[in-house]
Amino acid sequence: MSATALETSLVWFRQDLRVADHPALWHAREQRRPVAAVYVLDDVTPGAWRLGGASRWWLHHGLGALTESLDKLGIPLVLRRGVAHDVVPALARTLNARLVTWHRLVEPFSREQERLVQARLRAQDTAVKTFQGSLLFAPEALQTQQGNSFRVFTPFWRACLRAAAPESPLPAPSPQSPPRLPIAGESLTDWRLLPVKSDWAREFPNHWQPGEAGAWRQWHRFAQRAFARYPAQRDRPGEASTSCLSPHVHFGEISPRQLWHACARLVQSSDSPQMRAAADRFLSELGWREFSHHLLHHVPTLPHEPLQPKFARFPWREDPRQLRAWQQGRTGYPLVDAGMRQLWRTGWMHNRVRMVAASFLVKHLRISWQHGQAWFWRTLVDADLANNAASWQWVAGCGADAAPYFRVFNPVLQGRRFDSQGDYARAWVPELSKLPAKWIHAPWQAPPEALARAGVRLGRDYPCPLVDHAQARAAALAAYRGLS
Ligand code: FAD
Repeated sequence: MSATALETSLVWFRQDLRVADHPALWHAREQRRPVAAVYVLDDVTPGAWRLGGASRWWLHHGLGALTESLDKLGIPLVLRRGVAHDVVPALARTLNARLVTWHRLVEPFSREQERLVQARLRAQDTAVKTFQGSLLFAPEALQTQQGNSFRVFTPFWRACLRAAAPESPLPAPSPQSPPRLPIAGESLTDWRLLPVKSDWAREFPNHWQPGEAGAWRQWHRFAQRAFARYPAQRDRPGEASTSCLSPHVHFGEISPRQLWHACARLVQSSDSPQMRAAADRFLSELGWREFSHHLLHHVPTLPHEPLQPKFARFPWREDPRQLRAWQQGRTGYPLVDAGMRQLWRTGWMHNRVRMVAASFLVKHLRISWQHGQAWFWRTLVDADLANNAASWQWVAGCGADAAPYFRVFNPVLQGRRFDSQGDYARAWVPELSKLPAKWIHAPWQAPPEALARAGVRLGRDYPCPLVDHAQARAAALAAYRGLS
């Protein structure tokens, strides 16, 4: 049989860069045909939400790891740049694919891709089968008693826990003998996903190992060292207290279903109330991810419009100088600055600090959450449209189940509470490394001798506060009152 006459099944990889627990791959492999895989770098359909720099860095390495895993299964991965609804149907034709499979996503542009790819495939008589592979619970299957989508997390998560538990994860499929494809893919290097003009991401490899093996390594490390103490420690940014799995989860290198069952195994093996509490807490964080995806599925405008319409009238300030100071970690508030610098150097920031840094932007500086959302989109290795938009709206007080706008985080008190010895602040703001814990979160309150001993000249080595907390809080509340 010639290579072109060979009938194949094609798997379209998206945010699911793994071979285990991959229903779309599994199903394709169950057909009695050779399987090929494709990944499309589509920078057109997402519009403003094309992948940011940190995501591109991750994708480069994640695709490298996926290529190796698929190679071991005898499945060639074809890399193509272009518009997904052109590339996938054309490739299906070239490969004589009788079936194309993929996992559904919730981003409006991802759904648009799916709709168009599906229409073209149907028109050329290629079968399509899609699966839920990125979430624990299908967003369309959950609704309130009134038949609406959820806007509040607690009843949403209760409904999830009442639904049928996620099935056991699938293993990786068995290997096939590699088909000879009539085409060659593009080269990953030619995609130039890594930053070329700067060494901005040079430290990323010290922190991350993208790929399925890296995801499991991260999980095992977390399970051994921090899982049991997760409920008590998870808000402490100075300790390795959370899983750091978010980029792996976003790129689908580990599935939420695998994590759900990995938690269940930990609980079974210890059968202690402490482990049960840890599992409940960890799964409820995955629940927030489910909730954000549920929201974006039902409210596609989430990244662009406040969920609470009155916030469309909020008098946001445009202040490029202050925005830049926030982005560069030069606000003069050490917890905020530590977070923003951790983000720049590692592509990640601890959740508690994300909340404080985001709140500082939208409340202390009254700069729109959309500016913050855009910066996070560029710089986070876990940038995820649903989580990012829902979280920014939550912090800004305009989202679903939001932290009320009038609750303004005090970055000094947050620092003293969650980074009491200042280890986190010192790690990312080395100018302050010699300042005692008592002053570390408010250096402007330190006596001149303490600053001199620590070698800090405020305004020269480290900035004076960009705004005064009490005044900024009062101005934010006044602006908020103006809405009603
Ligand atoms: P863990 O505490 O170990 O939690 C386990 C997993 O649960 C995470 O890997 C993640 O997949 C999920 N998760 C945890 N907390 C949340 C949450 N609050 N919302 C949704 N999912 C959650 N998370 C992203 O994945 N991408 C984003 O773009 C993103 N943007 C954010 C923007 C702001 C302003 C804020 C306040 C939070 C944002 N988050 C985002 C949520 C959260 O900060 C990260 O998911 C978390 O810090 C990841 O660290 P971890 O893997 O150690 O989390």
